Amino acid sequence: MATAKISLKKASNIKSTTSSSEQEKTSSQEFQTIQLQPVEQTIEVVEEMPVWQLPVETGVITTLPSTYHTALDIISTYGGTELIYPIANGTISGIYNDTAGAKIVTIHHIINGINYTSQYVHLSSYTEGLYVGKEVTVNDSIGWMGSTGYSTGIHLHLSVVDCALFDPTDSNCVDLNSFYHYLKLRYNQGFVGLQSLMNVPQSWTTRS
Ligand SMILES: [Zn+2]
Repeated sequence: MATAKISLKKASNIKSTTSSSEQEKTSSQEFQTIQLQPVEQTIEVVEEMPVWQLPVETGVITTLPSTYHTALDIISTYGGTELIYPIANGTISGIYNDTAGAKIVTIHHIINGINYTSQYVHLSSYTEGLYVGKEVTVNDSIGWMGSTGYSTGIHLHLSVVDCALFDPTDSNCVDLNSFYHYLKLRYNQGFVGLQSLMNVPQSWTTRS
């Protein structure tokens, strides 16, 4: 969970009256008045973030996101028989091949009023009956882990960013070019969605 830190400065010259237990015993004694010094205080503002579901039943992370690879790479001991699931409930926004032939699915999520797109790359094939506009839950598989496109082995390349891909009203992600540009921009800004994906375990053997 990422946190934003805000520095607040307490008002100076706060007067406070306190009494010690010793003083309370003797009412004749005067309360002690102390002068508080200005205090630099750091409070943590916790940004509300989606809790992503793991995209595969069995996974091992092989590559973390970076400026040049704004995604997680995940392999599975089950290789090409590993099914891929949405990381949150949503609507299929794209089913397409990139120029290298990678089979790709994108899903639009609205979580806490914020648009997100998750992208699943290198699939070997899509689940039957998948179409753009179809609503899917985290329990509806979208395809199988594969190695289509620029890939050196069977794995899932998973990205997430806070925009609505292919939505003409979202200029950040109106097309794939802007989507990739925005992914990199948001990674460099420390976007919490991708950071929270980085917090998934190094490996796992169950989605629940
Ligand atoms: Zn990758």
